[in-house]
Amino acid sequence: MIVGIVGLGLIGGSLGLELRSQSITVLGVSRREETCEIALERGIVDQASTSLSLLAAVDVIFICTPLDKIRETVEQLIPYLQTSAIITDVGSAKGIIVEECAPLWQNFVGGHPMAGTERSGIEAAERGLFKDAAYVLTPTERTPTEAVQAIEAILRSLGANIHHCTPAIHDRAVAWISHLPVIISAGLIESCLGETDPNILELAQELASSGFRDTSRVGGGDPHLGAMMAQYNHQALLRSLFQYRQHLDHLIKQIEQENWDSLEKCLEKTQKRRSHFGNFSR
Ligand code: NAP
Repeated sequence: MIVGIVGLGLIGGSLGLELRSQSITVLGVSRREETCEIALERGIVDQASTSLSLLAAVDVIFICTPLDKIRETVEQLIPYLQTSAIITDVGSAKGIIVEECAPLWQNFVGGHPMAGTERSGIEAAERGLFKDAAYVLTPTERTPTEAVQAIEAILRSLGANIHHCTPAIHDRAVAWISHLPVIISAGLIESCLGETDPNILELAQELASSGFRDTSRVGGGDPHLGAMMAQYNHQALLRSLFQYRQHLDHLIKQIEQENWDSLEKCLEKTQKRRSHFGNFSR
């Protein structure tokens, strides 16, 4: 099998490293020549180019560009591909992407690995990124079963845990656990920076430790990817943000009213139920 990857950054580069370790031939296309050179040097791909024509003979293509480049990449790929080629993407929002791309190519399978770091670009590519990570596929009623099965076989070889759902359900679920946290975390950093007394701000910055590191991490990621994620999932994100604001108001009221019993009950509930989310170490 020959796999093509478009967009050799954190996700595309990590995928290339993993697939090549299984002796799968990987052809990579990226925007910048320099990135292609690094991909070759690091053994992320067998061949690299800035031209999509490199991918004429591939069986499966992973589009790993930023969200706003996925649709145009599919359009530009079409003239080169064999009709049997399967295209999948890794974009972190699925509704708009599947709606735009599925009508362009029959063998299109929407996908989203729930894996990543706050780093970006080819230098951030690493082995093991997908191992034991959830990986969501969002086929529609018209997606050929064989195309889905072919992607699943590759994902299983990466050690990923495969989930299926509709694009709309995906977007609502990830709004809660991925997109809302980015916005809240960014809001936290910005609120702290709003401290008007420079001495207090300076001291807070010096004292910041593990608690602030954990809660601010996702707000310190790539700004373009964060803005794209909000744009491509804005309806579900707004829905989550409005609900979050209601809970925040409720918490503020408890503190204003010095209702410490009620606040403690609320924190008891969140302490117990946090463990229902994900399989990360606690
Ligand atoms: P990234 O590290 O910035 O990598 C994207 C790469 O795409 C860039 O390095 C750039 O390479 C290349 N690129 C940009 N425009 C291109 C174009 N028109 N044609 C070809 N290559 C192009 O970003 P990432 O974190 O890997 O994210 C990529 C995708 O994965 C996004 O759609 C994102 O939603 C999704 N995703 C991200 C995460 C995460 O945690 N980061 C998790 C799951 C899914 P050059 O160096 O050549 O410019």
